[in-house]
This record gives sequence, structure tokens and C-alpha cells, in this order.
Amino acid sequence: MSQPTLREVVSVLDLVYPPRLAADWDSVGLVCGDLDATVSAVLFAVDPVMEVVDEALLSQVDLIITHHPLFLAGVHSVAATTAKGKIVHTLISHGIALFCAHTNADHATPGVSDALAEKLGIGDLSPLVPILGQPSAGTGRVGELPETLTLEQFAELVAVVLPQTVHGVRVAGDPMTPVRTVAVCGGAGDGFLSEAALAADVYVTSDLRHHLALEHLADGGCALIDIAHWAGEWPWLEQAAGALARGLGSQGSSVRSIISQRPTDPWTARVLQAPSQGSTF
Ligand SMILES: [Zn+2]
Repeated sequence: MSQPTLREVVSVLDLVYPPRLAADWDSVGLVCGDLDATVSAVLFAVDPVMEVVDEALLSQVDLIITHHPLFLAGVHSVAATTAKGKIVHTLISHGIALFCAHTNADHATPGVSDALAEKLGIGDLSPLVPILGQPSAGTGRVGELPETLTLEQFAELVAVVLPQTVHGVRVAGDPMTPVRTVAVCGGAGDGFLSEAALAADVYVTSDLRHHLALEHLADGGCALIDIAHWAGEWPWLEQAAGALARGLGSQGSSVRSIISQRPTDPWTARVLQAPSQGSTF
């Protein structure tokens, strides 16, 4: 099999994760790279941070595909005096391209939340918040577990199947609550608590804020499971690698794919508080 050009790789990715599905505020697609360059190896990662660039250098890839964008706001300098400028310099000087599929990968089917749901064994998936006029695309997913579990059993399953992080798996709700219908949203999903409350027995997402979670529970909303943002989106990397391999394969080309194993969740330690400390808050 031949090696594709970056142009051919981008056209496959744009078919799988159409840029038109991205939110208005988002910035998706190619950040740097020459469309005529040949791509022999690709690193898939959640965050375009220096640890991932270092991994790309070690793995000798020509392209990094990330979920999160490098830039969202207007940029007037990529001087190597900032972390992001340094990333751009390092990538270009080593001939490594960077491509981001963010909310377009969230909204596409299959997308980021399908990958998370499938990892948790949830089937019969549909969007939690469909896009108007495109009922098969949208934010989050809702589906069914093969059997009813208690909230405690399901939370243990989540902890086992997702990659380990310092953040861990936080649970809100009675541990004996039966759960069968599960809503998930890769990334920060507290904007969709009301949809999850109507649709599911439990909602799995990240970055749940104090007040929104409290109000959701006080209103009788479903149980909540809060996972690390990186861990919730990491399952998408394998989906994207598979989709790229199939798309290129149908054109007679292939690349070496590497799934990043470096956790880029910002939290690096957790201090467990013993109950005997008698905390007063
Ligand atoms: Zn995210």
C-alpha cells in the first residue's frame, strides 16, 4: 500500500468528521502542515500539548491528530516565547502537521460520545441533544446497558474500563439506584443536565460544576458520574484511527497509527482525607 499525502488524509477526516458539524465558535481542521507532504505515521491524542509533541518526536510521526484545538481565539504571534508558539515552532521545524477535530467529532456519528458509550458497554445509541434537521448527529449519546446494574456497580465498571487518572470517578446519587438507561457526554457536559435528567438513570460526563450538579440533584435529576475530561475523550482516539485506516484503505493507502498513552489531564496528585481528621466543612 502507498503512503497518502496530507491532502488525502485531511479529505478522509473531513468526510468522517465534517467541518460543517462544528460549533460556530470552534476552530477545527489543519493548524500546520503542507498538504503535498507524504504522511507515513500518525499520532492520535486528546490535547495538543508539549508532552504530546514530545511523544510525536519519539514516535517519528508526520502528523498529530488531536481532539482539542491548539488555538480558539485570535492569534497575532506564534513566537516561541509562549507554550503554544513553542509547539508551532517544534512541529514545523520537524515537519510534523497538526489537525484538530473538535465539536465536529463530538457531533458526528460515530463521534466522541459514541466511543465513550461503547467503551462502557452501552448500546442502541442516539444523540442526547440532536442537531436540528440532522437527528442522527448531535451532542452526547443516550443508550441502554445490556443489564440493569446498581449505580455503585456501574461506577466501578466506569473506573475499570476508562484509563486511570488522578481525578478518578466521582459519583452523586444513592449507590443502590438501579441504572439501565445511560446518558454520556465526552468533555464538559453540564450544559445538558436537563436533557440527561429526562432521558436517563445516570449521566456520565466531565467538569460538572458544584451549583449545576446540586440543583440538578435537588430537582430530582438522575445520578451523576463525573470523570476526568481526558479519560472521557480518550476512547475517541481509537475510533478516529480506525476510521482513518478504513478511509485510506479504500483508496489503496495506509499509515502507521499510534494512540497516545500519555495522560494530559492537568491534575497530577490527590490527597485523600482520612475521616478521622474531623474536617468541619
Ligand atoms: Zn474536550
